[in-house]
Amino acid sequence: MIKALFLMLILGAICGLILGFASKVFHVEVDHRVEEVQAMLPGYNCGGCGYPGCSGMAAALCSGEADISSCKPSKPEQKEAIRQWLKDHPANA
Ligand code: SF4
Repeated sequence: MIKALFLMLILGAICGLILGFASKVFHVEVDHRVEEVQAMLPGYNCGGCGYPGCSGMAAALCSGEADISSCKPSKPEQKEAIRQWLKDHPANA
């Protein structure tokens, strides 16, 4: 019985070390600005911008790959608000 408990303790410690190491190695940095920008887009998910829905467009806008003018359904004031928001919230700020 003691042997089994000791074995489980060792296995738990090894699994914990492996998971801790994996969380460091496979850590993915998330840009929290994407959710904010996505909320400002029309949300039609029409794909007219060339990206897979508004979330893809928001990610591209935050990374600087896309321009908001590609989103035809959004109104001019929405486009200007997004441009201003991205200026006010640059990456790595
Ligand atoms: S064109 Fe605009 S509304 Fe359509 S998916 Fe792209 S960002 Fe969304």
